[in-house]
Amino acid sequence: MKVSKDFIDDKKLENILVQAKPTEEEIERIINKSLNKERLSLEETATLLQAEKPEWIEKIFKGAEELKNRIYGDRIVLFAPLYVGNKCINNCEYCGFKASNTEIDRCTLTIKELQAEVKAMEKKGQKRSILVYGESPDYDADFIAKTVKAVYDTREDKGEIRRVNINAAPLDIDGYKKLKEVGIGTYQIFQETYHHETYQRVHHSGPKRDFEWRITGLDRAMEAGLDDVGIGVLFGLYDWKYEVLGLLEHTIHLEKKYNVGPHTISFPRLKEASNVSIDDKYLVDDEEFKRIIAILRLAVPYTGLILTAREDAKLRREVINLGVSQIDAGTKIEINGYSEDDDEQDINREQFMIGDSRSLDDVIYELLSDGYIPSFCTACYRLGRTGEHFMEFAIPGFIKRYCGPNALLTFKEYLEDYASEKTKELGEKLIEEKLAEIEDEKTKEKIEAKLEEIENEKRDLY
Ligand code: SAM
Ligand code: SF4
Repeated sequence: MKVSKDFIDDKKLENILVQAKPTEEEIERIINKSLNKERLSLEETATLLQAEKPEWIEKIFKGAEELKNRIYGDRIVLFAPLYVGNKCINNCEYCGFKASNTEIDRCTLTIKELQAEVKAMEKKGQKRSILVYGESPDYDADFIAKTVKAVYDTREDKGEIRRVNINAAPLDIDGYKKLKEVGIGTYQIFQETYHHETYQRVHHSGPKRDFEWRITGLDRAMEAGLDDVGIGVLFGLYDWKYEVLGLLEHTIHLEKKYNVGPHTISFPRLKEASNVSIDDKYLVDDEEFKRIIAILRLAVPYTGLILTAREDAKLRREVINLGVSQIDAGTKIEINGYSEDDDEQDINREQFMIGDSRSLDDVIYELLSDGYIPSFCTACYRLGRTGEHFMEFAIPGFIKRYCGPNALLTFKEYLEDYASEKTKELGEKLIEEKLAEIEDEKTKEKIEAKLEEIENEKRDLY
């Protein structure tokens, strides 16, 4: 795998940050460029990162909100993670699963247990999941493929998981090919930090210590034909402004080399974990966190932004509008967590502590109260519209035209099959309102007909 040595050049990124000199005029020009749906350059993004005056930050927030509404509409895609196994041969300083942590209970789901987890998720109404694995010779591509198949083959009474994404260690090209065969959605690898020195400091031992192998992980996925990949940074390890530029540099690299950027960007913040002592030097506070989301939204208008349940409910509610397109809900990160359905979190059974442990229905109710349409849509991926194709379709307002209606249909299924009384009532009202907003009569009639089919027990329409 050939990747140019200066793919992530720490000095270059630091210099771009130092040289950025924001002015009101320049900030406005950059926001307008982004509102015209153009990806920003490293220098432009650095200008937004260095904008410290409160009125400038406010402008950036407003710009991000407007962009989110223009491109993504009021749809929020919902998913839930499923932890398959927490064995790990790495020693990442920040993670409860690190090999040196002897206090954590180590286990790997059997296929039977995995299927029980999937059924428990499906019973709540989940349709999209991301399978999460530690790094271990036990979790090779064959094992991951076997677990993905088991998830797709498990169907509860009323529904099934229709899209399985993966968050696991980087693989070789043959490994990714095996996963392409079983039909995975996105393959996520977080670089954690793009700063070489910090990377070496926090990854004490194990294969993950190899920065190059990890950063080229998604290039190999692309070479294997998996054009749907997700990147991320663990915020709190190094300077957040530098890390945002790292994410953008990685995006630009994938765009240039494969003609398609990452499908999603994740921006987890460091949380308390078993046997982890957190150094607070680079911790990101809530205000900085909001700036990260808004600036990422503006920098990469077409990339999905994922906000996880690591954050608490109040903050999640506040920041969604700054540009988030996907959230997890009803999340359990303990092994066997969905089948046990226990509300207590146990630090020695989890990778880290989550902040939002509400049920899927409670999160949906809140989204509806705030005017969002929860979406379980998996149409693009099942129609082969990923990677390059996804971008092409996305560019001329595709998301609003197709994803909006599909969101309504998948949400209607949720209301019919799983919603509480109060969610159903509010949800039906919102669907009516959204239908009323559709100007084109033909489109409206088509959606109404499909909604009726769903009331008559038809499922999986798109
Ligand atoms: N083991 C694989 C790896 O490291 O790439 C995949 C899964 S790991 C379980 C998922 C992600 O959790 C990591 O990439 C890291 O960003 C995040 N993570 C680890 N420790 C964390 C902590 N203490 N707080 C928040 N997120 C954490
Ligand atoms: Fe293992 Fe991933 Fe945790 Fe590192 S972050 S210790 S690789 S599970």
